Amino acid sequence: DAMRKILLIGDSGVGKSSLLVRFVDENFSPSFITTIGIDFKIKVIDINGKRIKLQLWDTAGQERFRTITTSYYRGADGVVLVYDVMDEKTLFDARDVWYNTIMENALPDCQLMLVGNKADDNEDDKRQVSYEDGESLAKSLGMNFMEASAKDNKNVDEVFFTLVKMIEEKLGSS
Ligand code: GDP
Ligand code: MG
Repeated sequence: DAMRKILLIGDSGVGKSSLLVRFVDENFSPSFITTIGIDFKIKVIDINGKRIKLQLWDTAGQERFRTITTSYYRGADGVVLVYDVMDEKTLFDARDVWYNTIMENALPDCQLMLVGNKADDNEDDKRQVSYEDGESLAKSLGMNFMEASAKDNKNVDEVFFTLVKMIEEKLGSS
């Protein structure tokens, strides 16, 4: 099978681990998810009749120190940059910190997706970032964009499938 490496990055607490748990294990926990030891989860998906083994890399809390390094990015086919729509600072950090680490460490062909997580149903009063603000940042950075909710299982599969389709199209055309 083809193997693709996908990374999740973004501020601590935005829901990176929750998005992975929702996508791979199909559940959700209301508490902080501590990732210890193991660095990635595997999920096999089917895209246009082709089996693709996804190696989904999660940070084990080291994003708090912003020490995501070149070795983490090595061989990455795609990056999911996550912010929290209920916390504006995480969008500013996506723009001012995380995007730069991608530019410094990822290969030019690496496919990028900006994700506004915690876009829960019935929580619009807690929002600090509008859909349009996320979309326009993504556009200015040349990234694809989606809002999602790991809690409500909204757009979680779509985020990963869209990214993998972008990766396959890029690989197919090169
Ligand atoms: P990480 O540090 O980026 O890996 O974040 P976690 O996945 O550990 O999540 C941090 C906190 O946000 C936890 O309390 C999660 O339950 C919560 N969380 C994650 N995703 C969502 C979501 O879509 N909606 C809401 N309301 N909370 C979420
Ligand atoms: Mg985590």
